[in-house]
Amino acid sequence: MNEFFEKIKGFFKDEPSFVEAKQLLLKNWEKITPPYLYGILETVRDSVFILDTNWTYLYLNSRALEMVGMESSQIIGKEIWELFPQVKDSEIGKKILIAVNEKRGMQFEEVHQDTERWYDLSVHPSEKYIFILGKEVTSQKKVEKGYESAVSKNRAILNSIPDKLYRIHKDGTVIDYKMFPDFADWETPAQNTDGMFNTMESLFPEDRLDSIRSMIFQVLTLDLTQTVEYSKEEYDGTKFYEARIAKSGNDEVLAIIRNITERKRTEQLKNEFISLVSHELRTPLTSVKGAIELLIGGVAGELSNQAKSLLNICRKNTLRLVRFVTDLLDIEALDSGNINFKYKSYFLEEIVQTSIDGMRTFAEQYHVLLNYVKEAESITVFVDEDRLNHCITNLISNAVKYTPKYSEVMILVGRGDSEAYIKVSDKGPGIDPVFQPRLFHRFTQGAPPKDKLVGGTGLGLSITKGFVEAMKGTIDFETGSDGSTFIIKLPLYETNHFGNFAQGMGANQ
Ligand code: ADP
Repeated sequence: MNEFFEKIKGFFKDEPSFVEAKQLLLKNWEKITPPYLYGILETVRDSVFILDTNWTYLYLNSRALEMVGMESSQIIGKEIWELFPQVKDSEIGKKILIAVNEKRGMQFEEVHQDTERWYDLSVHPSEKYIFILGKEVTSQKKVEKGYESAVSKNRAILNSIPDKLYRIHKDGTVIDYKMFPDFADWETPAQNTDGMFNTMESLFPEDRLDSIRSMIFQVLTLDLTQTVEYSKEEYDGTKFYEARIAKSGNDEVLAIIRNITERKRTEQLKNEFISLVSHELRTPLTSVKGAIELLIGGVAGELSNQAKSLLNICRKNTLRLVRFVTDLLDIEALDSGNINFKYKSYFLEEIVQTSIDGMRTFAEQYHVLLNYVKEAESITVFVDEDRLNHCITNLISNAVKYTPKYSEVMILVGRGDSEAYIKVSDKGPGIDPVFQPRLFHRFTQGAPPKDKLVGGTGLGLSITKGFVEAMKGTIDFETGSDGSTFIIKLPLYETNHFGNFAQGMGANQ
């Protein structure tokens, strides 16, 4: 453009008329440029500024005019530094100057201090023109800032959690979520920069890997949360961990890993203490009970009625203590796996009969009738007789306590396709829905029966469940305002499968 002006300068009579013509030409520059070009420039989203190499504005599209807040006539043909003298020393001005001097394209973001508006500008110098493209990016910046502050809050939360958090991809790749909270792209070929990726072998003990892998598969397919406990040998001893695994994407799970070594130690101490106390109590209690029974039996001479009734109270309470201590020992044995089941094949209906016979006197005290219904005969089960008896007795005892006076408790024995069942039903008030999830927990008791004074420790159902499950059975219940039914299911004992079955039960026969 400048060359062109130089060439035509001689046609003018003097300098002012040349300047005037030049101004006029510049103002109408757009008219001598193909009109479709302006069409295009109007449609782009950016503000477009075109200047000549003398820093004179040749063209601004309407977005650019909006950006500077001027009319075309106020700006075309004017020099940028004349029009905006403050820009020359500003950061924007310096960068534009560098880009033009070095003849290279440049892009930068700038905030307008007064308006706090953000602009994304790019400068493209050419031989004859300077093209400046700009767009306002204030709202994107706000989103970015919001994102950054969310990310830093997220980091603070993550760092304050004592548990370790890992993302595990279904292919077994592991990434530490606390260290790389922004990691998003599992698809990128595994460049293990900064030790970003790990494998499941580094997290879990080798002998648990297979079961944890199938647990992850389950979590992914069924969208469940699963928990697993494991121990690991570390340089300063054995450590115990609990991993909670939850689905966190189509192909990945989040593992929240908690060090439970301290909890395990405390539990162990508690168990050792309970076990010690129970063992220490059992022997003297047994001899106290024996001595009381001998006294009542008259071994030490005839007793007055008053002495007899006092001794009967002693006997009753000693029996309660013996039962409690036995329960504690059973719980401890179930926990430690140190429990010996004496498995044999039995007719289920006979074991149930024995349990019912043992509970008749108890039921009579509460004015309750025990009604035994056999839906099938000769159902063979492979169980520990004493332990199963304990379970049935416990269910009958609870049913008698909760069923109203002068009503009956029904005990039903039958067989399904692959299992035998025992159902104990009462006509009591049912089990409170709020209490139901904790029914089988230890030392938990619900509301006592309304019209009766009954003892209990809250251990009965948890021991029953432990015993039944050890015998490969299940225990469940149905309850409503007209009564509750507890159902024990046990595998049927098929004599032709004796070997496999017995092995499955852990019997050495
Ligand atoms: P305990 O009988 O020593 O309290 P259990 O473990 O046998 O302990 O029972 C726990 C709780 O379950 C009881 O305290 C009672 O609230 C509830 N429960 C058990 N069986 C029945 C039943 N048949 N009807 C109503 N509630 C029951």
